[in-house]
Amino acid sequence: MSAGPGTAESSWQIVEDRFDPVLANTNETLFTTGNGYLGTRGALEEGHAGALPGTFLRGVFDHHDCAVIDLVKAPDWVALEIVVNGVKLDVTTASIVRHRRALDMRDGSLSRETVFEDSAGRRTRIDTIRFASSADEHLCCLQARITPENHTASIAVHSGIDATRHNLDRRPFYPDPPPADPQMKWHKWAKSRHLDEVDRAASADGVYLETRTIGTGITIGYAAGTTVSAPGEPEVAERYKHIEQISRTQVAAGETVSVDKLVTIYTSRDVAAADVGRTAREELRRHRDAGFTACRARNRAAWAAKWADCDVTIDGDEDATRTVRFSIYELLIAANESDQHVNIGANALTGERYRGHAFWDTEVFMLPFFIYTQPETARALLLYRYHTLDGARQNARETGFRGARYAWESADTGAEETPQWTIDGAHRIWMGEEEIHITSAVAYGLVAYVAATGDHALMTDFGAEILFETSRFWADRLEATPEGRYVLSRVVGPDEFHEHVDNNAYTNYLVRWHLQQAARVYAELSDTNARELAALSTRLGLTREEVEDWLNKAEQTHLPAVTDDGVIEQFDGYFGLATLPVEHDANDMPMYPSGHHHYNLAGTKLLKQADVVMLTYVLPDEFSDEVKLANYEYYEPLTLHKSSLSAATHSIMSIEVGDPGRAVQYFRRAASVDLVDNQGNTEEGIHIASAGGTWQMMVNGFGGFRVRNGRMTFKPWLPPDWEAVAFRLKWHGNALSVSASGTSATFLLSAPEGCHETVLVHGREVILPAGTEVVVGLGDG
Ligand code: BGC
Ligand code: BGC
Repeated sequence: MSAGPGTAESSWQIVEDRFDPVLANTNETLFTTGNGYLGTRGALEEGHAGALPGTFLRGVFDHHDCAVIDLVKAPDWVALEIVVNGVKLDVTTASIVRHRRALDMRDGSLSRETVFEDSAGRRTRIDTIRFASSADEHLCCLQARITPENHTASIAVHSGIDATRHNLDRRPFYPDPPPADPQMKWHKWAKSRHLDEVDRAASADGVYLETRTIGTGITIGYAAGTTVSAPGEPEVAERYKHIEQISRTQVAAGETVSVDKLVTIYTSRDVAAADVGRTAREELRRHRDAGFTACRARNRAAWAAKWADCDVTIDGDEDATRTVRFSIYELLIAANESDQHVNIGANALTGERYRGHAFWDTEVFMLPFFIYTQPETARALLLYRYHTLDGARQNARETGFRGARYAWESADTGAEETPQWTIDGAHRIWMGEEEIHITSAVAYGLVAYVAATGDHALMTDFGAEILFETSRFWADRLEATPEGRYVLSRVVGPDEFHEHVDNNAYTNYLVRWHLQQAARVYAELSDTNARELAALSTRLGLTREEVEDWLNKAEQTHLPAVTDDGVIEQFDGYFGLATLPVEHDANDMPMYPSGHHHYNLAGTKLLKQADVVMLTYVLPDEFSDEVKLANYEYYEPLTLHKSSLSAATHSIMSIEVGDPGRAVQYFRRAASVDLVDNQGNTEEGIHIASAGGTWQMMVNGFGGFRVRNGRMTFKPWLPPDWEAVAFRLKWHGNALSVSASGTSATFLLSAPEGCHETVLVHGREVILPAGTEVVVGLGDG
């Protein structure tokens, strides 16, 4: 199936070479297959106790039966049971002689080889391969090959659609520690039921199951057709919320029976509810006529095209290349360009944690990847913010403010969805009220997208309205002091250990920048699109005076204290907090000081994640090199990196400030957060923001890429044992390949003949004519 370690092949594969019940849920997350329309966790097809399978369909949320709106665990399309001589093969009924699974990131397929042996020594080998097609987003494919190796078997294949799925709601109160038996892990959680069955059908052609979300009324239809390479008509078996095709056959020792299962999925988010079934069945028929092999070829071609735009490699470190590719793989299956009404949840479509809700993670951590490699997807993600502007208006109104405030956690409507209590009910969560910097993240994403793509229409048609309405919120939320300054009290900055703080530097600087950007866009549109601006202003009741007020408030926004050395105080009073010694784990990463945890560090200077350092990264032009260095050196030893978002920022900034001692360590920490499960919760879903941060480490950190004054600039820096780093960028509709070694950087611009770009490399202007490779020496000044 795959080559061994140390080959180029292995840098495309994630491999599991034994079944371990303790690691099963983590590997289910890692082996998620998807295409931006759906994600399916990599649970074994036949299931087992303690498994946490799940298929999530983008945008299918429901609020029935749960404390906070959930991304619904949709019916399972993978379900495939193989019964040999009357016994269902699984990890409890048979022993495992051999087991290997591999996720092939080149084409998003998960393949498996398992040899089971029963108590009589009969060995049966199962090979499967599955993928959610990137060419046809409604199509999922599974192929199984069953070989009784040393016996003649009577085999029954049960190929089903299983809608007996629920989300997990509240963690049970186990005595500490929770049950050791992995089979019992999810047993006692409170469960939320989101699906009612509304229709089912079976024919010679296959089976169909239709469900509807109880609270949001979304119709979900799955059509499945299974073809078995054995004579005989399949039977159909029906149970509660479950329907399956059963094919029975006799197979001689050493012979193989193969099973092709194709499934199409539609919801009433895609077509009218009444058309869901017909559409799914018609599309299934087309794909079945084409056959599994043709479906697979189309999927491969679609993946190849994606990788051509976004692959990143590290010469001299195959394992690092594999790790980075895994991050890119996760980003590619998290979203696509075809839906402007959904965003990416903090665990994408790989698990239930954070309930599919979108955070600032999207604009600040993931969007850069999409802007520079898949700009159409970036556009769709930004339009989600436009389509949820009414939700944001409601959030502002409900808390007594004008304009629009984006939700710290956002689902289908943009209304604030942050839970008020932790999942064990022990702690109050204030983020929905106080972590308001998310609103400026949306502006940050918009401005970066337009700068890189030149898609000014997005700003004129949608972005301006977002910027203006959110600026209205800021102008109202800022509080005037008697001295005529403006402050922001009672907020949470990126560092969530400190709640109810006043004048968080990150927030205040971004608010100032946000108001200035809104005024800039207003002025630009007055010149370029006066008619559109006039219409928008009338609709919003916006006047030039109001925009001037934004600029005035921006100028008068209070910015926290700065020491003589240039260290910016994270928030008012931070410098007066206690210091605590920080110990490090075996990987030299900081740990919670003993007796401390997330909820009792507010009296100390320790921070959960990059905050001022984050600020100097997102607004690079506001701070001198000396100030960036001073803040990195001050905050680095105090940062515990208890969010997976943090390490990437520190890796990038350590390079920027010329103190890259920990750049590689933070790179490894962020890039392998899920592959080595260093946050301990990968079983509940991928840390997708860290995947975005990983791409940024490669491109903005080691590649030293920034946009300055509308130009691409590069300052590569490589660790000594890396020979070269190569990546691709899209810029104003053209494509640029970049490869940097310790001594030179090589550029190739793909653009219409005669075009060129001027970039800066370590401050020097370099002209890149289309189609010509340009090599620039580094290190000679
Ligand atoms: C996160 C918050 C989030 C909360 C509820 C916490 O773990 O740090 O950002 O709002 O969970 O989802
Ligand atoms: C982090 C937030 C992040 C959220 C979702 C939290 O732990 O503190 O910055 O947005 O997780 O990833």
